[in-house]
Amino acid sequence: MQPPVLYDNHNRPITYLRLAVTDRCNLRCFYCMPEHGIQYLPKKELLSYEEMLRLAALLARMGISKVRITGGEPFMRRDLMPFLERLSQTEGIRKITLTTNGVLTTPHVPALAKSGIDSVNLSIDSLDRARFARIARRDELPRVMETLHSLLQHGIRTKLNAVVMDGQNTEDIVLLAAFARDHAVDVRFIEEMPFNGKGANTPVLVWHHRKILATLQEAFPNIEKIPDEPFSTSMNYRIPGFQGNIGIIAAFSRTFCGTCNRIRITAQGMLKTCLYDDGVLNVRNLLRQYPHDDAPVEAALRRAFSQRPKDGFEAERNRSNHLPVRESMSTIGG
Ligand code: SAM
Ligand code: SF4
Repeated sequence: MQPPVLYDNHNRPITYLRLAVTDRCNLRCFYCMPEHGIQYLPKKELLSYEEMLRLAALLARMGISKVRITGGEPFMRRDLMPFLERLSQTEGIRKITLTTNGVLTTPHVPALAKSGIDSVNLSIDSLDRARFARIARRDELPRVMETLHSLLQHGIRTKLNAVVMDGQNTEDIVLLAAFARDHAVDVRFIEEMPFNGKGANTPVLVWHHRKILATLQEAFPNIEKIPDEPFSTSMNYRIPGFQGNIGIIAAFSRTFCGTCNRIRITAQGMLKTCLYDDGVLNVRNLLRQYPHDDAPVEAALRRAFSQRPKDGFEAERNRSNHLPVRESMSTIGG
């Protein structure tokens, strides 16, 4: 049977759910979370695993086929692995991926490999211990590296994600890219977005995608553009002789909205049809209001998908409070 196809009002297929399973984190990356004063959500405000599974099954029936587990740090939530196992049995979900900071991940890598996970994105903003500790506000690079090596040993497809920040880790652009020469990993550089819980760190974005590319071109003059996969958010490159590819994600410049196929469910069950909106539907309340009837939930989801902003700039203008983004990526689910 042909899988169902879900389109938004701009004729973009919606196939990809990013599901934040927690708002908690064991790091305090300064571009994502404030150091102090974080109010974690009370447990009853989070979606339960049962609610997530019900929602995933409903969305799969509507046309979603890929789910990325994110957070917060997914491994801060207890019993993540049994949940992944059950999610992988959901009819229609053909691809499951995970984004993790790697601090608590090593012991779970064998089970991840067994679960048939499609790929893991490991966030690593610096290969230098002092710089890493300054950015993440925790001295955890050794445990992250242990996870990285374990993922590679277990043959799990791995991508490294690094946010590029002015004055913090720009030396790491070349160091991290070189990692893809020596190891079978893709490395992606992400423009910093103002999702740190308090608004933009700098008034203008200094390290935009063109500057990141120029830095790579200077260090690796034979770097060449390769075709991007459909719906890719990254602009992709290869460097001859390298095992992995290099990607640049213009997350702030928003170059990829025209082919955006993704939606987000935050840890408290808000639907975001764009990263830059402020939550367009409280799915958690609907799931709880109609515990045995998916029809009203599906109708509300379809309504939201038919009113999707055309790009992240429109989504930002539509925010109900009209204020600049002050959310933390840890609650949105990056
Ligand atoms: N804790 C996990 C991790 O760090 O991989 C998963 C959640 S984290 C919010 C997901 C991704 O969002 C990470 O790769 C992180 O670097 C990215 N991210 C967080 N805040 C960001 C920001 N302000 N700008 C760009 N990327 C950001
Ligand atoms: Fe935690 Fe990930 Fe945010 Fe860093 S980026 S504070 S690891 S949620």
